[in-house]
Amino acid sequence: MSEMPISRFAPSPTGRLHLGHGFSALCAHDLARSAGGRFLLRIEDIDPIRCRPEHVAGIIEDLAWLGIGWDEPPLFQSQRLPLYADALGRLKAAGLVYPCFCTRARIAAEIAASAAAPHGPDGPLYPGICRDLPDEERAVRIAAGEAHAWRLDVAKAAALAGPLSWHDARAGEVAATPHAHGDVVLARKDAPTSYHLAVTVDDAAQGVTDVVRGEDLFAATHVHRLLQALLALPVPRYHHHALLADEKGERLAKRAGSPTLASMRAEGADPVELVARLRAAGRP
Ligand code: GLU
Repeated sequence: MSEMPISRFAPSPTGRLHLGHGFSALCAHDLARSAGGRFLLRIEDIDPIRCRPEHVAGIIEDLAWLGIGWDEPPLFQSQRLPLYADALGRLKAAGLVYPCFCTRARIAAEIAASAAAPHGPDGPLYPGICRDLPDEERAVRIAAGEAHAWRLDVAKAAALAGPLSWHDARAGEVAATPHAHGDVVLARKDAPTSYHLAVTVDDAAQGVTDVVRGEDLFAATHVHRLLQALLALPVPRYHHHALLADEKGERLAKRAGSPTLASMRAEGADPVELVARLRAAGRP
């Protein structure tokens, strides 16, 4: 690596950290620090309903317990909304996003009514109901205060950007296929951004050279790569690690009742031994 690596751990404070989070944080931390680089903490708290201050405190406590330290004060996405609005504004000006007034029920009904609704990595794709609304209708509905999200017109955007690729440590050079996600939401009805937009803007703003995260986010990188091209942002290297599995080889998913770091600590687990175990799990 020519420059000093900068990596980050970017949890959403929607609950306590699990073992899998600890593993991910450690992978990111070790990648940068072992090469004399910097490791950053970013709190992805754009969801006003699910994110809670006590979970931020929990994240800081849990990382400290594991002995994982970070450089620079943590970045809070909730304090950066104008930057995401600015990025969205650039995409609006380029005609690459459109307002979407659909409710979940409307989208579900449309999908149910179509014989072969296309599916992406996260389920059925948005069927494009609002993609071709006349400009006047959009303006009238927005002026009337109708709730709306902003979606990326992925076909238009991908055509403009041309062929793109990105590099993953395990998968190698990957051709970007953002179409597979359909017209993703870049600003939600209840938040002026979305995961895809905020993560792309912030990885660039923080100078992140190496994105280390679980392979459950591998597919999302196709969208991030397209946004980087549209917003003229640098492209980090990606390291999508396998998700931790238990003794039976089953994934320790966040929601499948896997132990939290807090519960392990309460039961007297030794953090030094735990970190050693997690590091061993990360070695191929
Ligand atoms: N905030 C995301 C999560 O908690 C992770 C974002 C990322 O690493 O790109 O799943």
